[in-house]
Amino acid sequence: MAPSTVPTVTLNNGVEIPQLGFGVFQVPDDRTTAAVTAALETGYRSIDTAAIYGNETGVGRALAASGLPREELFVTTKLWNADQGYDATLRAFDTSLAKLGLDHVDLYLIHWPAPARDLYRDSWRALERLAQEGRIRAAGVSNFQPGHLRRLLDSATLTPAVNQIELHPGLTQADLRTFHTEHEIATEAWSPLAQGAVLDHPAVGAIATAYGKSPAQVVIRWHLQLGNIVIPKSVTPARIRQNFDVFDFALTEEEMRTVTSLDRGLRTGPHPDELN
Ligand code: NDP
Repeated sequence: MAPSTVPTVTLNNGVEIPQLGFGVFQVPDDRTTAAVTAALETGYRSIDTAAIYGNETGVGRALAASGLPREELFVTTKLWNADQGYDATLRAFDTSLAKLGLDHVDLYLIHWPAPARDLYRDSWRALERLAQEGRIRAAGVSNFQPGHLRRLLDSATLTPAVNQIELHPGLTQADLRTFHTEHEIATEAWSPLAQGAVLDHPAVGAIATAYGKSPAQVVIRWHLQLGNIVIPKSVTPARIRQNFDVFDFALTEEEMRTVTSLDRGLRTGPHPDELN
């Protein structure tokens, strides 16, 4: 499958992000290079890592070894909570960049609002500076609730391009998605497969059987048709390829509604108000 078959989402600053990317949460650094290499060989061009994952070095190694031109790649990394604050953010960004072996990233995210620290507005000023300096092509946030976004927007000159949130059929985030649309913030779905927890649902299985696809492919298709940016993770080459093979079928409106109706407020990760 050619990378050019992946649609892009145009962010609020005009930058285009591939709608389907590859996540590396919980992949040890020494296994990350192989996983990212398999993803790049499959055709993924967008890679999602974070300082806290401890595998930016492994990602960087795969990017360098791929020989792909930098402008064909879209690299996202994230600022960890302990590094929030204006100066600390700038330092943490330099460290991430050095580990990745890059001179800029395409998207830099504040990983969590960490409201008890009350530093995300200072951190955001640092991201605004990095964007102005061209060291990040787009600035965004992750795990921000509407209240955090409103408070950020009150003092920001730049509107976040992206909010990366937990989103899957078990947690469809209708309210946040509406808020994002109203504010021109793109929705990016993390744990898009709910780390596997939604794949054995009979309704998903029935749709998968009807198309000769897997439950994971149905769920990724659901994300794409909702308009989400989606970054499934796998260390298994066959699954890495399977998760990319989702552009030759489409769910009907009724099938979309069926998958959406599986929402049961299921969180696989922490609540954003509580992680600091
Ligand atoms: P996912 O929802 O992507 O699920 C990954 C799990 O599903 C793995 O156990 C994987 O197994 C399995 N899997 C993948 N593909 C298939 C398939 N086709 N069939 C069956 N099982 C499959 O979980 P993640 O939590 O990793 O989320 C994806 C990415 O989102 C992360 O890697 C990270 O980049 C980002 N993220 C961001 C967060 C944030 O706070 N901003 C928080 C969490 C994630 P295996 O690998 O063994 O093949």
